Amino acid sequence: MGAAGFCTVCGESPSIYFRRYSGERLCARCFCSSIVERVRRTISKYDLLRYDDRIVVGVSGGKDSLSLLKILHRIEQDFPRARLYAVTIDEGIEGYRSECARIAEEFSSSLGIPFASLSFEALFGFSLSEVVESGAAEKIGVQPCTICGVLRRKALVIAARRLGATVIATAHTLDDIVQTYLLNLLKGEGNIKPVGLRREGGGAVPRVAPFRLTPQREVALYAYLQGIPFQTITCPYTHTSMRDRVRSFLNWYSANRPEALYSLLNNFERLILRVGYGGERVCEVCGEPSSRKVCRACELEQRIKDALGA
Ligand SMILES: [Zn+2]
Ligand SMILES: [Zn+2]
Repeated sequence: MGAAGFCTVCGESPSIYFRRYSGERLCARCFCSSIVERVRRTISKYDLLRYDDRIVVGVSGGKDSLSLLKILHRIEQDFPRARLYAVTIDEGIEGYRSECARIAEEFSSSLGIPFASLSFEALFGFSLSEVVESGAAEKIGVQPCTICGVLRRKALVIAARRLGATVIATAHTLDDIVQTYLLNLLKGEGNIKPVGLRREGGGAVPRVAPFRLTPQREVALYAYLQGIPFQTITCPYTHTSMRDRVRSFLNWYSANRPEALYSLLNNFERLILRVGYGGERVCEVCGEPSSRKVCRACELEQRIKDALGA
C-alpha cells in the first residue's frame, strides 16, 4: 500500500495506507473514520438522505453492501427518526446465494437492523438457476448477469414498497458509477441518467449511492480492517462482460493518475447527464416510472416466462 512512517492525521500510529489523491498517510483507525466521514459528507453534498427517511439497503452479502450497512447504521444514530432495513434478494443460485444470505442476515442482526429476504421464486415464479439450467436464458439470448441485474433491481423496488421505504441505498462505489457512465457512453445511450443521485418525482423510490465518492479499493480496505465477513463462493454464472473490460481500462488509466476517477465523475455529471425523469411515463405492467411503455424488467420477466413455458 506504499505506507511508511506515521499517520499524518493523528501522528501517533503507524500508517497503513497512502492515499495518493490527497497525499495523506493513514493509520487503520484514522483511515476508517475518514471513510465514515466521507460518506457523511457525500450524503450532505448531494442531499442523498433526509433526517426521517425509511432507508432500504440492498445487501448482497458482499463486503461493499455490508460496509455500507455498518456505516449508515453509525450515521443514523444521529438521526433518531430515520429507519434502516436490510434486504437481500435471493435469485436462487444453487449453493451461492444461500451463503451470502446467511452472512447478510447474521451481520444485520448483530447490528440490530431488521432484515428481510425476498426470492425470485416468490416474486416471479422462477429462480435464476432454473432460467439458466432450462436453457431459457440462452433461448432469449440474454446473459444470466443481465437477467440477474435487471430483476434484482425490480425485486428491490418491490421490497422497498412493501416496507414503505422512502429511499433505497446501494453500495455502488466511485468505480462502479464511472464504469456505468462509460458503458452508457460506449453503448451510445442517448439519455444518460445520473447514477446514485436522489431523483424524486415520477413516483419512483429514489436510489442513492453513498459510496459514490469512495474508490472501490478504499471500501475493500475498510471492510478488511473492520473484519466484515465476505462470501467465499463466487457466482457460478459469472462471465467476462463489457463492464469487466471497462473496469480494467479504468484501473489501468487511473494507475498513475490518482484523480482520474473523480474528474471523470465530475465531468460526466457536468457535461453529459440529463437530470430529471424527462417524461412522466410509467410502465403499463408494474406502474414504476419508465421511459418505455413496458419497463425492461417487466419485458424480461415476460420473455423468460414465455421461454420457460414453451
Ligand atoms: Zn491516525
Ligand atoms: Zn414494469
